[in-house]
Amino acid sequence: MDFSLDSKQGELVLKAREVAREIRSIAYTPNLSTVQYVQEFSAVLARSNFLCPTIPKEYGGLGLDRFSTALLIEEIATGFPSAAAIVDATIHAAEPILLAGSRQQKEEYLPLLTGENAGLASFALTEAAGGSDLSLIVTAAEESGDGFLLNGSKDWVINAAEAKFLTVIAAIGKTKKRSSLRVFIVPQSTPGFKLGTARKTIGLDYAYIGEAIFDQAYIDKKNVIKSTEAGSGYLLLTQTFDLGRAMVGATSVGIARAAYENALEYAEKRVQFGTAIKNHQAVAFTLADMAIKIEMARLITWKACWLMDQGGDYSAVSAMAKTAASTIAQEVTSSAADILGAKGCEKGSLIEQLVRDARILTTIEGTNNMQKLVIASQL
Ligand SMILES: Cc1cc2nc3c(=O)[nH]c(=O)nc-3n(C[C@H](O)[C@H](O)[C@H](O)COP(=O)(O)OP(=O)(O)OC[C@H]3O[C@@H](n4cnc5c(N)ncnc54)[C@H](O)[C@@H]3O)c2cc1C
Repeated sequence: MDFSLDSKQGELVLKAREVAREIRSIAYTPNLSTVQYVQEFSAVLARSNFLCPTIPKEYGGLGLDRFSTALLIEEIATGFPSAAAIVDATIHAAEPILLAGSRQQKEEYLPLLTGENAGLASFALTEAAGGSDLSLIVTAAEESGDGFLLNGSKDWVINAAEAKFLTVIAAIGKTKKRSSLRVFIVPQSTPGFKLGTARKTIGLDYAYIGEAIFDQAYIDKKNVIKSTEAGSGYLLLTQTFDLGRAMVGATSVGIARAAYENALEYAEKRVQFGTAIKNHQAVAFTLADMAIKIEMARLITWKACWLMDQGGDYSAVSAMAKTAASTIAQEVTSSAADILGAKGCEKGSLIEQLVRDARILTTIEGTNNMQKLVIASQL
């Protein structure tokens, strides 16, 4: 096994770090609306073609493998986690097209997420009643002429206001079977699509998150992903999630690292009882525990990505990476806040933002309980 980065990966990390610094400075620009922050972050990310880095070069993307993508996401998340969330969501939205889209769908939609003028995309699955339990999905598509009329409402959709298109999961017909689920590509301009309530979340709150409503939205048949090769629509979904989970792992590692770096710097400078607090063993051991956990979270995330790139069986390891890393991000941000003393309780501080951001990660992309169901089913 070789854990060293090659020169291309090293350059990618340096570039991503530079972009992440720029994003963090924008995040501290006061009085922008959420949509404006998203637009500013997107413009900076697009300049380096970082909005959907998994898209192959033939469609204008960077064609990054999963390992390199995880490196990129960790850096962006270390700089400012909400920006990593908008990239994660865009990668996730493009995934069903990459996995099972037709040539025409790839040529029409993937280039919208690449290059300097790239935009974002959304993955819209969750509904008011149906979160973890997909059998409760009520958004449905009825055949109509050469297409479908889509009706229903999705919630908690990242990027919904700024997405060039949404990949929407809906049932065909009236059956509630998993096999009736399909993935629809819905361009933002589709008549009958509108935004609902914008959600205010405790973390990742510089990303736009909200409802997406479909009211007799006509979707041409060419925009339904035929998941024949990949199995049923439900299988396509599970494949999409298997790939996406490791990216939440990488985001979690980035958040944990930012908190650790912040706490370490503080512990080296803050003097109590005549010495820097880092010299008190309890503080040093806390930092050591944080470093151990970050290393573990990164390694399992890398392993999941390595398996993806090798064509191995990554489903359970990807779920493990998401579960372990998101749990660790919560633990490490909390430990960092402890080390910062009163400053760890200060509103508007970096650590406050990181604690709030970490809180979200055990829930999104399938709650950690759902990950354990995936893992347990493969034991
Ligand atoms: C900031 C944010 C961004 C999001 N972005 C998106 C997005 O872009 N697109 C999208 O589609 N969704 C998105 N979501 C939604 C997210 O994926 C769901 O919140 C998540 O899947 C959980 O669904 P739920 O909230 O309905 O919880 P529920 O499914 O109601 O679960 C509630 C609790 O019960 C537990 N539980 C449920 N069933 C079981 C079981 N069988 N065994 C054990 N425990 C169980 C869960 O683990 C959880 O703890 C986002 C959510 C947030 C907070």
